[in-house]
Amino acid sequence: MNPVVIAVAITGSVPRKTDNPAVPVSPSEQIESTHEAYEAGASLVHIHVRNHDESPSSSPEKFAEVQDGVVRYCPGMIVQFSTGGRGRDPGLRGSPLYLRPDMASLSTGSVNFPSIVYENHTTLVHDLAGRMQQHAIRPEIEIFDLSHLHGARRLVDAGLMDDRPHVQFVMGVENALPADEHLLDILLEELRRVLPKATWTAAGIGRHQASVMEWALRRGAHAVRTGLEDNIRITRERLARSNAELVEMAVETVLRHRRRAASCPEARAILSLSPHGGAL
Ligand code: ZN
Repeated sequence: MNPVVIAVAITGSVPRKTDNPAVPVSPSEQIESTHEAYEAGASLVHIHVRNHDESPSSSPEKFAEVQDGVVRYCPGMIVQFSTGGRGRDPGLRGSPLYLRPDMASLSTGSVNFPSIVYENHTTLVHDLAGRMQQHAIRPEIEIFDLSHLHGARRLVDAGLMDDRPHVQFVMGVENALPADEHLLDILLEELRRVLPKATWTAAGIGRHQASVMEWALRRGAHAVRTGLEDNIRITRERLARSNAELVEMAVETVLRHRRRAASCPEARAILSLSPHGGAL
């Protein structure tokens, strides 16, 4: 069976404990939640950190603490830092990259979100891409709009990124790309034209998480994404008990598609990461 990377986005910048008490907020909660997700089959963790009041933070100390815990308790797991998210000072979003996570998210354009403009000025995009290149971090390009694929291609042409980034289509954010299966086909066709060597995944937000995962698997995605950042519920009536519970569901979905959860070494090979960290 063809292995697929299961990525878990444990925290994000939006959900609070009042929304679901299982959202891990402190670094120790985040490490524990990641470890449970790792045991359940996740091979990549996407990390945001929070302040004591649960607001989003860019603190390198907090990122370092979570990174150290994951490296220690989840051997081989791919560590991905977020450089995005709402409520962070744009000038600080790249500040933890010197810690050399294996990967970091990178938005290559701006877009409307539910209540704000998610602003990614070209200067900021270039600065973040340059830092990732300097520290041998593989970018995961966040696609909130088709033009963001072309933003990624421009980074390749400018020599700020190699031509094998990992690309994530984000569907179902209000005011951005709707969760529409036909739209995924259009995006994939354009990806193959603009960045033919890229690996790809798709994330469905909220109630769209499970259906977007199905669509991605039907089209041979290299990875799928789950986690409380994107969706806090198992059903409309029941909150997810943990990130691990969402990972268990993803493992079952993957098996239904005659694939299996990639081990960490397999996940690193799929995403062109060295076995010991960093981009190849
Ligand atoms: Zn995120």
